[in-house]
Amino acid sequence: MTAPTSPDVAIIGSGINALTAAALLARSGKRVAVFEREAVAGGCMRSEELAEGVTYDPLATTFVLWVTGGAHGALGADLARHGVEFCATDTPTGVLLPDGRALTYTTDRAANVAAFDAAHDGDGAQLARDLDAFGADAGLLFGLMGGDPWSKQTAKLLAKEAWKRKPRGLATVMGGALQPMRSWLESAFESDLSRALWAPWCLHAGLGPEAAFSGQMGKVIGFALEAASAPVVKGGRLQHGARPDCHHRGTWRQRPHVGRGRRDHP
Ligand SMILES: Cc1cc2nc3c(=O)[nH]c(=O)nc-3n(C[C@H](O)[C@H](O)[C@H](O)COP(=O)(O)OP(=O)(O)OC[C@H]3O[C@@H](n4cnc5c(N)ncnc54)[C@H](O)[C@@H]3O)c2cc1C
Repeated sequence: MTAPTSPDVAIIGSGINALTAAALLARSGKRVAVFEREAVAGGCMRSEELAEGVTYDPLATTFVLWVTGGAHGALGADLARHGVEFCATDTPTGVLLPDGRALTYTTDRAANVAAFDAAHDGDGAQLARDLDAFGADAGLLFGLMGGDPWSKQTAKLLAKEAWKRKPRGLATVMGGALQPMRSWLESAFESDLSRALWAPWCLHAGLGPEAAFSGQMGKVIGFALEAASAPVVKGGRLQHGARPDCHHRGTWRQRPHVGRGRRDHP
């Protein structure tokens, strides 16, 4: 690893976004320095030892949005070369109610439709309709969620979609996306079991069941889990000592909080 004295780019914080930016910049030939105030890199992406030999990820656990995203496309082979291996199951989620009824969600659409229909006839068809509708708008919705709201890229995306769908069509999609989780579940599914499967997932996205956009996050998660399951890093992330790809031009500094007015030269 080289230790550049004068980096081209300094990145404050070492969460997944910082490390991704650092790795991509380092790969493009920039000298990158990452500064982290914690003793351990990775931000919310970390592993801890619960007991001897038992490693777990206390914060972010599943990497479905990562493995289906563009950054993984660019960096996946490098990560694999460094030993990062993702593991997934074909039954990524499920629910068990106190009365013993259960519903398992799989990566297979036909099995999911059958399971929802077994909970209540018609819930399966509704699930398929909702996921297909989300799939048709996925480019727009993932583009908005993944992009900087005040960027040229987002303005171009919205202009293109307004041209394609006409302004009223775009307004309809955006309005529909604001639906809260509770209203989506109660209007879409008859069975309390189907509803119970999705209800907790809005909390995972940091939203309550009445929050605007929480229904949309439920569909994002349903769509993503069916398409790519819930991949976790084999063995936890502790072993990978999250840092930019040091085979390129990166360096990693553990420093106290980097704040305004402080000059923290490596
Ligand atoms: C409980 C929980 C569960 C989650 N589960 C999932 C999941 O399963 N799947 C998923 O995809 N997402 C999950 N998320 C969301 C995911 O963790 C975040 O989207 C992601 O970690 C954000 O990454 P980041 O790089 O933006 O910031 P962070 O991960 O928050 O990292 C920021 C880093 O910057 C450092 N820092 C900040 N300011 C300074 C400073 N001034 N000087 C020096 N260092 C600084 C911090 O110490 C930290 O290490 C979860 C989040 C939480 C809280």
